[in-house]
Amino acid sequence: MSIRYEGTVYRPPSEADSLILQVTIGCSYNDCAFCGMYRDKKFRVRRIDEIRAEIEHVRAAAGRRTDAVRKVFLADGDALIAPPKYLHEVLDALRAAFPSLRRVSCYASPQALDVRSVEQMAALREAGLGQYYLGVESGHDDVLRRMTKGVDAAEMVRVAAKATDAGVKLSTMILLGAGGAALSLEHARASAAVINKIQPRFVSTLVVTPVEGTPLFDEAMRGAFEDMDPAAITRELREFVAGLELRSSVFRANHASNWLPIGGTLPKDKAAILAMLDDALRSPDDAPFVPDAWRGL
Ligand code: SF4
Repeated sequence: MSIRYEGTVYRPPSEADSLILQVTIGCSYNDCAFCGMYRDKKFRVRRIDEIRAEIEHVRAAAGRRTDAVRKVFLADGDALIAPPKYLHEVLDALRAAFPSLRRVSCYASPQALDVRSVEQMAALREAGLGQYYLGVESGHDDVLRRMTKGVDAAEMVRVAAKATDAGVKLSTMILLGAGGAALSLEHARASAAVINKIQPRFVSTLVVTPVEGTPLFDEAMRGAFEDMDPAAITRELREFVAGLELRSSVFRANHASNWLPIGGTLPKDKAAILAMLDDALRSPDDAPFVPDAWRGL
């Protein structure tokens, strides 16, 4: 037995050195207009005996290096939707195999956060599942509707609060450019307002990129969705950061799809980040925008 990954496996940049365990295949929602990650996969929860065998394979391969696995990411798109009893079995097997395990995390769709109770999430957190990655995408209802996220901003805040109440750390993503040029600054301000309500431990931005096979790509082909240039995206990012009032969060705009890689701890680094963005906007020709070939998306 070895680890058999099914299809393309995605993980957040900060899980680069984690063991990726594909406990679910695909995304149970699978309807966001911009997302092409799991369109070729029918959602299912994998059999627990397969997962146990994969954990045992990694444990055996690690031999006496019992501290080899410290972080685990449960793939695919929204593993939190798997039944809690199943997730507890996975977490129990992971803790038994890897005594140095420090963190288990997964993507959580708003739909999964809606169906899980605070008590269920708190029990899973005690068993090790302590961090969720949540694609908030926007705080603007028109943008969320256009991206067919399936929830409005108020619902997003409500379900995120359940995770926070359960003691789970949230890592949230905002999708720059998702409102197009017309809604750019409104999207930025509304997104900052929603993130302020959520107060996540981590907040990051990605730049929307129409991916072939998605409704957003079809819109872009019809000319109904316009790409924004780096300066316009930077203006939107500046408006977003300016609106953030966070008590203690790590901010990153350094995903491969971002033009200008920046980051810091908020509120401490807010002025420095804004100054860097202002510099870039004052002289876009000299700004260190990441060249197309490096963007990776
Ligand atoms: S919930 Fe996440 S993984 Fe599922 S379709 Fe939307 S963006 Fe993609």
